[in-house]
Amino acid sequence: MTQPDQPVTDPSDRDHAARAIARGRVAAERALTEARIVSLARQHQAIVEGSRWTTDDDEHDPEGSTIAFERAAIASMSREAREELRELDDAEMRIERGTYGQCEVCGGAIADARLEALPTARRCIDCTSRRR
Ligand SMILES: [Zn+2]
Repeated sequence: MTQPDQPVTDPSDRDHAARAIARGRVAAERALTEARIVSLARQHQAIVEGSRWTTDDDEHDPEGSTIAFERAAIASMSREAREELRELDDAEMRIERGTYGQCEVCGGAIADARLEALPTARRCIDCTSRRR
């Protein structure tokens, strides 16, 4: 038996729609983060290859510290991006469990605008600002 036209006011349907939106936001964020990781890996490779060229015949390599700094910056950005992926995995688990969008401190609902801007948000604005 099929039910092609369930009313949109059905709470389970609303829940379903909310999950679909949340999943879409997490997926979009994941795509951006993965693209960032690929781009950072390329930049890192370019620097490694570039430094091979410059360090050969230049002992007082004036760019040496810049390169080291850039490599460190890229490594740190990669770590952040990977951490973000873990947060996105976690957000997906919360969506499946039905706890997504619920503040982990006060249990209140996290504002939709906040979730739109930060799909991995675990706390509502109030709890986030209170902690800092
Ligand atoms: Zn809260």
